[in-house]
Amino acid sequence: MVFETLDIVLLLVTGGVIIAGIALGIGLKSRHRRKLLLQPFPPEYLDILKNNVALYALLPAELQAELQGRIAVFLDEKEFEGCGGLQIDARIKVTIAAFAGMLLLNKDLDYYPALRSILVYPDAYVASDSRSRLGTVTVVDRESVRLGESWTYGNLVFSWQQIENEAGNIHCHHNVILHEFAHQLDQSDGIADGTPLLPDKGIYPEWRQVMQREYDRLCREAEHAVRDVIDWYGATNPAEFFAVTTESFFCNPLALQGAHRKLYELFVEFYRLDPASWRKPGVSGNKNRTGHQSERS
Ligand SMILES: [Zn+2]
Repeated sequence: MVFETLDIVLLLVTGGVIIAGIALGIGLKSRHRRKLLLQPFPPEYLDILKNNVALYALLPAELQAELQGRIAVFLDEKEFEGCGGLQIDARIKVTIAAFAGMLLLNKDLDYYPALRSILVYPDAYVASDSRSRLGTVTVVDRESVRLGESWTYGNLVFSWQQIENEAGNIHCHHNVILHEFAHQLDQSDGIADGTPLLPDKGIYPEWRQVMQREYDRLCREAEHAVRDVIDWYGATNPAEFFAVTTESFFCNPLALQGAHRKLYELFVEFYRLDPASWRKPGVSGNKNRTGHQSERS
């Protein structure tokens, strides 16, 4: 009986120490982030935003300021690794951090907590789709050329050439960085199903209804080669639909708003941003990829 009481006391003390440790860790992290936000944004980084991140110039001043802080924290917390001989420099890091930060603007979302490293190849890269059998023998099903991919835990992979083709071009309606970080948001609840953690439980029924309807529509359009502002690649599965629609939401918002008003409004509610209002009428377009020689995942 004495031992049981001692065990309970020990358990309570250990639990208390662990909770206190976690709280202390969170407190220190918040303080460190606040310190980062107070530091001046490097002029070199600002030049990179102006030259390499076309959407930056469209942001209202208060969102530009918030984005600078998001970039500072992101760069402090995430690792970058050059692959295939690529040397990581400030241009690569700030460009990727800028679009990652853009998805977090104006809301209380953490900095992709499951993400540790960002791997960057100079160009499209070949990856193997493999599965393990009996825990010892690995069977490679196929190899594919990729422009980027998001792993559920730990890593993101990019082609720098693809980023360069898209990031600085205000008329480009595709953006592999937004695409892969949208996957990260989608996966934040542990499942890549096109439904990220929504800010309000009450939104889920409408989210599921609108997303399913729009996904089915895109599947029909892709099947019959009917063009849409949303790329046909979104018809691959609901997770890709969310990622591709996120690209359209930021890169071609007027066309998305015009052709899919309900879907656009749903994304405004989730991202707490209204990219259509950042653009003057007449800048929209409607271009689709003509094929997928390389794929995103
Ligand atoms: Zn994808």
